[in-house]
Formats: sequence, structure tokens, C-alpha cells
Amino acid sequence: MYRNKTCGELRLIDAGTDVTICGWVQRMRDMGGMTFIDLRDRYGITQLVFNMDGNQLLCTEARKLGREFVISVSGKVTERSNKNPKMETGEIEILVDQFTLLNASKVPPFTIEDESDGGEDLRMKFRYLDIRRNPVKEALVLRHRIAQETRKFFDAQGFIEVETPVLIKSTPEGARDFIVPSRMNPGGFYALPQSPQTFKQLLMVAGMDRYFQLVKCFRDEDLRADRQPEFTQVDCEMAFVEREDILQMFEKYIKTLFEAEKKILLSAFPRMSFEEAMRDYGNDKPDLRFGMKLNDITSLVKGKNFKVLDEAETVQAIVAEGCSAYTRRQLDELTEFVKRPQTGASGMIYVKYNTDETIRSSVDKFYSTDDLKHWISATKAKAGDLILVLAGASGKIRKAMSELRLEMGNRLGLRKKDVFSPLWVIDFPLLEWDDELKRYQAMHHPFTSPLPEDTHLMDTDAGRVRANAYDLVINGQEIGGGSIRIHDRNLQQKLFSLLGFTQQQAESQFGFLMNAFEYGAPPHGGIAFGFDRLCALFGGSDSIRDYIAFPKNNSGRDVMIDAPAPVSKEQLDELGLEFKYQL
Ligand code: ASP
Repeated sequence: MYRNKTCGELRLIDAGTDVTICGWVQRMRDMGGMTFIDLRDRYGITQLVFNMDGNQLLCTEARKLGREFVISVSGKVTERSNKNPKMETGEIEILVDQFTLLNASKVPPFTIEDESDGGEDLRMKFRYLDIRRNPVKEALVLRHRIAQETRKFFDAQGFIEVETPVLIKSTPEGARDFIVPSRMNPGGFYALPQSPQTFKQLLMVAGMDRYFQLVKCFRDEDLRADRQPEFTQVDCEMAFVEREDILQMFEKYIKTLFEAEKKILLSAFPRMSFEEAMRDYGNDKPDLRFGMKLNDITSLVKGKNFKVLDEAETVQAIVAEGCSAYTRRQLDELTEFVKRPQTGASGMIYVKYNTDETIRSSVDKFYSTDDLKHWISATKAKAGDLILVLAGASGKIRKAMSELRLEMGNRLGLRKKDVFSPLWVIDFPLLEWDDELKRYQAMHHPFTSPLPEDTHLMDTDAGRVRANAYDLVINGQEIGGGSIRIHDRNLQQKLFSLLGFTQQQAESQFGFLMNAFEYGAPPHGGIAFGFDRLCALFGGSDSIRDYIAFPKNNSGRDVMIDAPAPVSKEQLDELGLEFKYQL
């Protein structure tokens, strides 16, 4: 038997017992007469003692062990004279009377400690060593717990977990498909699912009533920071539901996770329309841990011969509380921040409403103190506050203002890690105009139904139709999104035609779904949560990569197994493929 205990479970009450444990050598300290080894496994660390006065040979052998050697040791659990209250096993040690070397280890390329000296690339290349580190291991354990809670919750609510296929035909979610050639069907390609959307709808037609799945999805997108080409969703669908039923069910799910994982009882999630979110926060996923709403001061600033503001489509202001004493340097930093291409503003105007009620601004040349007082009252700034103003084209400025607001939130410590502010964003537009393609795109996806009260606009004013869609946002992150679906063939066909599909294209791509709608499709709707993101949220990290056992890097590569990689000419020939490029 390799072991009868783990490295994490022995306590003072076990003193006097004989045990056998296995693990990796974390650290060795040679103190002359005694040698100490910290032995580590998934469950913890236990201190081993080898005594020169006792078994000299054993002690000499132990001193030859290197970091990350794997051993099995037997000995007696004894009370430590020098207790370590920081370790769970810190009251005991094992007086070793026998050990077996199970495997040696090369010197690891980075230290296996909570704070490692290895850079990201190196750690990814040796991910199996990285996972031996506590924080990475804990992240995977957390992910497991959340998965279990998820399954427990949905099972208790009568949801059935159904696996949907991975080799499918394109399901549009707004990204490119990964495609897989078929040897048996030369010239034919599967697509990997961007989501199981059409399948879960078919399961509703099939009468499964409540479905969920922890499922891998694949999206070939230009990789922005913290996107993974493959990621996991908690994918759900329900029949005979309206939006209200969905919001209630999934609010309960999220509350259950918070209670189980964080011991936090969340109150009812506020709801906000897309329009309100864009108006007040410049963003459809507002971080509600703090206020600092956008103020539209466009009408106040015109006609003072200041070209920049006179010509601006919109002028937006936020109030940074207590920041009137910001220095030149701090203001310059903010100006640099808004001018970064990612933020996209061309400059920033500020108004300092000083504590002594004097007013100083970067536009004093054009605006009198009285003019600026109007800005102050419109933004409800108080003495001691700083008003930050951006001006320009509406879409761009809202986005830039939203970034500036978040930056100020960071600077002022308003985005606290242990505060959670969930909300539902509802009433999204159904369609969004794509200037490049010169046609509408579905804002959520093409299976989303219009709000019942807007359906009549489909023929006359499609751009104004709101969708029966909803997103769950927590602390400025989109955690989930879904919609009530179309379940009527004609309406679905109409939407496809608004999206620029010919009848024939719609038929060849989605005929299977529209046909199914003709066999008694029930009203239905659902939602999907980004599981990796949910784990990162509970783990308190910004990066989903930390919660994925074997993630890809920023270029979509797995540097450990070195994928993607070229394939042999024979493989290509078999698939009837020829390549222009050599990697
Ligand atoms: N399939 C959607 C998505 O992946 C979610 C949904 O509408 O249920 O975003």
C-alpha cells in the first residue's frame, strides 16, 4: 500500500500512530543532527523528521532527496516541540523510520511556491508543475465546487443535463467557427459549436422541458486579453416560460452560488434597460459598485466660441468626488488615459470646484465662472469635487467616458473586490446596424424573439425593435446572457430575411430548426453563463485563465503540447486538403 493518510490530515490527536504517506519534496532543511523535509500532496504539507542519532543511514539517504522527488514514507506521528500555527498540520511531525523513493525529479524550472519566480510562458509550458502550486490548485478545486453546486441546483429544480454534439454545423453567436474537415465526406466540414443554441431549442421542441449542460464552446475570435478559443458555459433552456420566469430562476441560481461559496446573501437584483445603462454609464454592463453616472451637458456648453464643444455631437461629464486638488500631473495622466487608442477620446476638459468654492477649469478662456456654475449644478458636483468632461461623437464618447469612469473608480478604490453588485440588463435592441456589411446583425443571436409589444415594428421600423433578451452583469462583467426565443416559423423566417439571408440560405442553414417549429414547438427561453468567468469572479481574479487547467495563451496556442501544429502531407491528402502556408 502506497499510503494510508494524506499530507493534509494529521493532527495532534493522531500523535503516537504509525502512518504511511506519499508526496513531493517541497523543501529540505539539514540541521546537522536532524533533517527536516516538507512533504506535499494535494491535501497539504506535513513535516518529516530524520534523526541522525536514530537511523544514520536513513538520514544520509534522505539528504540526497531533491526538490519535487516523489517518496512514500512511514513513521510515527509525534507532537512538535516547535509548533507552526500557520500550518494545519503544524502541531505534528512524522518521525520517519522508512522511506521509498518512488521517482526522482529534475530541478523544476521555477519554484513551486505560492509566489513563483516563473514567468507566465514558462509556467504554461510546464503547467503540470504550475498546478502543483497552491493558488493554481485551489483555483481548480474552486471550479470543481462551483460545478458541483451548479449540478446540484439544477438537478433539484428538475433540469436534465443533456450532452449535445461537438461536431455540428455553424451556430452563429457572432464569432467565426472552428471548422473540422471530414475524411469520410470529402469537401465537407463540421463546425465546432459556438454554443449549443439550436440543440437546446430542439430539446424544448422534444419536450425535455428543462435542460442544462456544462459545455465546451468554441469561438474563433481575435483574441483579446482574457478570451479563450474554447471555454465553458453553463447552458440552460426552459419551456413554457416568460422572461420573468427565467430571471427568477437564474437569479436564484446565482444567489445559491454566492451563499454556498461566499456565504453572502444577495438581495434582489436590480433591472436596468439597455437604454438606461448606455445613458447613465455609457456601457451595457455597468459596474454598479459605485455611482459616478454620466451627465449629458451638451446643451449647456454651446455658443461660447469654443469650437471643440460647439462642434461636438455630445458632451458628457462625470464627477470625481473629493478630487478637486488633483495635481497637474494627475490630470495629465488622465488626459493620456483618455487619449489611448483603446479609450479613443481626443482630449479631456476638467473643472475643479475647489473646497473654498472657487472654480478653475481647463477652459477658463471660453467659459466664465457663471457658465461653469451651470455645469456644476447640472452635474450636482460639490465643493471639493472634480468634473471631467469628454466631447465628440456620441458612440465614441460614451465608450470613452465609461472607461474613464472605471479608471476613476479604480483610482478612488470604489471597485472593492469583496463587494458584489449584480444586475439584469434588459430590453436590448434586437438588431444592430453593421456599417461595414451595410446590413443588420442580431445583437444577441438570430433566435431571439422581439419584445411582444415591439413585434409590430418588425416590418416598418426594425431598428427600433427591442429584444426579449437579458444579460446578467456583476461588477461590470457580463456573466450570462439569454433570451426568450422565437418558436414560430414565420417570425423566424422574417428575422432571417432582416438579417440579409435569402430564403434559400435560411433554409439550407437553419431549415432543421424552422421545420421543427412546425411540429408543436412550445414557447421557450434560456440563458448561458460563462463558467470560467463565474469561477474567476468567485476566486477574486481578473483572469479566466487561472481557472482553466490547461489554457491557451494570448495567441490561442497551447505552449505545453505545442498546438496548433502542422499535420503530415498524408493526413492532408486523406482529407483532400492542400495548404498554401507552412507553419
Ligand atoms: N447561446 C447564447 C450564448 O452563447 C446564450 C443563450 O441565448 O442562451 O450567448
